[in-house]
Amino acid sequence: MDFNLYFKSRQGEMVHLLKNIVSRESPSQDKKAVDACSAFVAAEFKKTGAKITRFPQKKVGDLHLAEFHGHAKSPAEKRALILTHIDTVWPVGKIEKMPFYISGDKVYGPGVLDMKAGLVEAIFALRALHQLSLRPARRIAVFINSAEEIGADASREVISRLSGGAGLVLCLEPALPGGGLKTQRKGRVVIRVEVKGKAAHAGTPGKGVNAIEVLVDQLHHLKKLASGGVTLSVDLIGGGEKANVVAEEAWAVMDIRFWNSLQKDRIIGAFRHLKPGTSGAKFKFQVESLTPPMEKTKPSVRLFQQAKKVASAMAIPLTEGRTGGGSDASIASSLGVATLDGLGPDGNGIHAENEHILLSSLVQRTALLTELLLQL
Ligand SMILES: [Zn+2]
Repeated sequence: MDFNLYFKSRQGEMVHLLKNIVSRESPSQDKKAVDACSAFVAAEFKKTGAKITRFPQKKVGDLHLAEFHGHAKSPAEKRALILTHIDTVWPVGKIEKMPFYISGDKVYGPGVLDMKAGLVEAIFALRALHQLSLRPARRIAVFINSAEEIGADASREVISRLSGGAGLVLCLEPALPGGGLKTQRKGRVVIRVEVKGKAAHAGTPGKGVNAIEVLVDQLHHLKKLASGGVTLSVDLIGGGEKANVVAEEAWAVMDIRFWNSLQKDRIIGAFRHLKPGTSGAKFKFQVESLTPPMEKTKPSVRLFQQAKKVASAMAIPLTEGRTGGGSDASIASSLGVATLDGLGPDGNGIHAENEHILLSSLVQRTALLTELLLQL
């Protein structure tokens, strides 16, 4: 079956569904809006014969799992888990200034690339399997995250649990520019450091310990961590009380990104061994959040090779690459599960006003996803 042709002839329907999902704006923090969009998407999955499970949430939108009930060729094999998210970084009303429209091969709109087109891909792939009564290689489940952009703990927990029981994970985040898959992603740790000094009159600073000065020294020292692809950015800082008092307290929060767990251990180790140069100052640090990197594990490398074979039989040259940003795929990959990311369409302008997908790529990626579900 030539799925490229099959979906090409359904391109109009795909755009129509994409428009419907994009026009239901869904910023991560707006539970009501996200829930409305999820309800619409869940109903679309239901039409493919999927069973929907809702995980109600108090603060963020409800999470959903769509379990596809086609007859798998190997029902005893662990299932394929597809990761998607419905939330975007755009507030409700943004669509007035950033409307959904098509220009040539480009489709614009808030969240169109990140990652509402990915949802269209999953719905159309399952719909094809359902309507053509095709048997996928494994059982299939689609997870619809409601708070990916803000990394909510609740969804991380569910993703860990679902990924742990999956045979393979396919994440429909956008492709790398040019269509490559993302097989490596940076991890991220947010660290807060606090320095406690000793207050004194600013006229006799020698009688106190200036926490701000100690902190600045330490930050300078920490900059050395930024090597081998590690980046460190101090993004929040504060301290002191009055202009005429030696600062007793100072703090900073930094975002550090890294490619592998060795680098992560080196980073955390450096904080453990930090010693305030000035005697009398106390120093402590706290990890505020930690996202694992997506590393090239053996199972993922093998899965990429298999996917490449499937793609090349469809005349699609599949490449791979790495990216600095994180995604839910990192959670699955860090559990040792074979994971592919960037299976969404090609496009440009993630989190930017020129956000768009390439329509031809949406068609091609949907065809590829359908074949992967049939063969992997
Ligand atoms: Zn995304």
